[in-house]
Amino acid sequence: MTEAPDLAAPLTGWRLWLLDSDDEGPVLTSPVVASRWPARVATTASCRAGCERPPAWGCGCGLYATTHLDCLLATGVTAGVVLGCTALWGRVVEATEGWRAERGYPLVLFAPTVDHRNRSDVAQDVLWRTLVRRPGVAPQPDPPDDATLRALARRYAVPVHAVPTLRRAHAGPIDRLATVLRDEAAQGLAARRLGDGHARLRFDRAVEDLLDVLDRQRPPEGPPPILA
Ligand SMILES: [Zn+2]
Repeated sequence: MTEAPDLAAPLTGWRLWLLDSDDEGPVLTSPVVASRWPARVATTASCRAGCERPPAWGCGCGLYATTHLDCLLATGVTAGVVLGCTALWGRVVEATEGWRAERGYPLVLFAPTVDHRNRSDVAQDVLWRTLVRRPGVAPQPDPPDDATLRALARRYAVPVHAVPTLRRAHAGPIDRLATVLRDEAAQGLAARRLGDGHARLRFDRAVEDLLDVLDRQRPPEGPPPILA
């Protein structure tokens, strides 16, 4: 097979962005090639190796997303990184754990923030900012505040939710609900765009269910383990 099929309906998958900013506010950036995902228009894949129409079957180009959220949690998802469920369409080829696609646009975003009510999160943040920082090691980016997340939601016209820092240990409990959300994001996309209230409700409920289980992953309140 040398040609990837053109798909009429979008696929959906999970991926990560870095949160950057420009003159117009917060912007999603691909973590691998440092290219920006524009707001309100589809991102189109490009190829540094010169493929005419990415993703090419024999190349690594294209917009990546995984079928399962737990693939992305191996190294943890911390403040400054944005996790999201994205639509993929145009030419799509299978990649390790997911797909590489020609076009993409995020459908819902989850941004880990430091929760200052949670002393374990605060302690981890202090650890990053003081003990871990040394020459040659990129500092932990500033966690996005509420205003930044609201600006991100407005700019891209998608829901953005603050979540706790996600660690590898969270993968099992959240993967099932993440898959439900991904499936609903794809199946109901056309209906939601046509204003189908039921489809929107199903999508919102899938997001709420995932947020509930993420919230339960917060460590119990207690003395900060590092500062104690
Ligand atoms: Zn290529």
